[in-house]
Amino acid sequence: MQKQFNYLVIGGGSGGIASARRAAEHGASVALIESGAIGGTCVNVGCVPKKIMWNTAHLATQIEDAKYYGFVLENKGLDWKILQQRRDAHIQRLHKIYDHMLVDSGVHFFAGRGQFCGPHRVQLDTVVLEAEHILIATGGKPLLPALPGAELGLTSDGFFAMRTLPQRVAIIGSGYIAVELAGVLNHLGSDVSLLLRKQQILRTFDQTLRDVLTDSMREDGIHIHNLFQTTALYRDTNKGLTVEQNNGENKQGFDQVIWAIGRKPNTAHLALTKCGLSTDTHGFIVTDEYQNTAVKGIYAVGDVTGRAALTPVAIAAGRQLAERLFNQQPEARINYNCIPTVVFSHPPIGTVGLTESQAIERYGEAQIHTYQSRFVNLYYAMTPQKPVTVVKLITVGEEETVVGCHLIGEACDEIIQGFAVAINMGARKQDLDQTIAIHPTAGEELVTLR
Ligand code: FAD
Ligand code: NDP
Repeated sequence: MQKQFNYLVIGGGSGGIASARRAAEHGASVALIESGAIGGTCVNVGCVPKKIMWNTAHLATQIEDAKYYGFVLENKGLDWKILQQRRDAHIQRLHKIYDHMLVDSGVHFFAGRGQFCGPHRVQLDTVVLEAEHILIATGGKPLLPALPGAELGLTSDGFFAMRTLPQRVAIIGSGYIAVELAGVLNHLGSDVSLLLRKQQILRTFDQTLRDVLTDSMREDGIHIHNLFQTTALYRDTNKGLTVEQNNGENKQGFDQVIWAIGRKPNTAHLALTKCGLSTDTHGFIVTDEYQNTAVKGIYAVGDVTGRAALTPVAIAAGRQLAERLFNQQPEARINYNCIPTVVFSHPPIGTVGLTESQAIERYGEAQIHTYQSRFVNLYYAMTPQKPVTVVKLITVGEEETVVGCHLIGEACDEIIQGFAVAINMGARKQDLDQTIAIHPTAGEELVTLR
């Protein structure tokens, strides 16, 4: 068995696989170690099953809407078991595809948990693998708080394992996962309470997006409780799960409680001291813009670095690192600014660049111009519900360079990618204005803003 490689990758998720394959394409001998299911978070308990659940919830709404378009349908409801089986089957197919891709790329795969036993050595059961370059791409896992009864709640991992749709569910948290799961469950028919410890959802997003999403969620029947400081969970035989808060005003009667309060990096078990590496206080591995850690020859990408925890970021960082190490591109690295992102809420958010308050802080209020349009998508011309779409542009200076684009509404998840390209290329407001609109779409509003 080969035990010495040019490149050793710990973690077979989005970042690790992408980096390993790219390095092998450039002729490096590569080993990849994975302790769980190939594909990591995104494939198994993240983006992929989440998007399938989002699609399911979206379909549930469209089936309801269909009658307003003249369809006569008999909706006998959702068979959760079939959904879960078909979703899992898709994930199994992805596993096979990844297995084949690794073989085709010539990457040596090792199943098991890796831990350092020296600066260039990683132990895996009884085997020790050595490499000049080692990448840590071990991702993260959901956080559970240190509160009494916390383990009675699920995390996003448990959400995907649920055998039935819960009737009453409380979601604790305010970020991506909290609002995405709240939307999915609500649209599938659960009674959803969203418990925020602070005032608002999605605290780092543009205020307009937060306001519109909060209103939409409330209109859809989600109970949003802010300033809710959870102190414990407990189960009453007759009342189901209770979420206790510090002022005694508890919420009770839930059949599931889901924690969505962030994630922690998988670093505790890596024996990092054996390679001379330490973590920050949250357990993340600090890297520079080239993904170098403090130890020469050891690198990190993806969620384990605590920066922009998104699949395409992990993939791009992993590939650029491989280009730098194995394809003579000494400057290869990704740009961590202006990363587009979508929140698969109901309705979805698409956003790129600075929020209005960040733009004001960076350039001063006098330099900033915002443009906004609020409208009802033509899709809803036929339905009694009239959810709004809001598009917002933030420009800076006399040239009116676009520095922020924030969208919420039907199809905004798909619209944002193209505008992100334009904004990354330095588009000005007049460039958008000079682009002929595509009618009738929601996207056209961005090139007709006044
Ligand atoms: P991971 O994909 O987590 O891979 C790390 C791998 O390392 C894992 O397979 C793990 O088993 C393995 N590992 C850990 N320790 C060891 C060890 N010691 N030895 C060997 N192997 C080890 N991002 C998006 O861009 N879009 C989305 O829509 C989206 N939705 C999400 C929904 C949910 C519910 C969650 C939880 C996340 C979502 N994300 C989304 C985030 C995305 O999944 C992550 O950013 C991405 O998976 C990070 O990739 P990674 O390679 O850093 O880590
Ligand atoms: P996030 O970091 O998005 O949000 C978690 C939020 O929960 C915190 O910001 C905090 O908000 C709140 N919180 C923290 N601790 C507590 C607590 N003890 N009690 C109540 N609320 C608390 O984490 P997620 O777990 O939602 O997602 C992890 C990451 O995965 C995301 O940041 C994102 O990068 C990625 N992801 C991406 C998706 C996508 O691309 N569509 C989808 C899902 C995940 P506050 O301080 O305001 O209270």
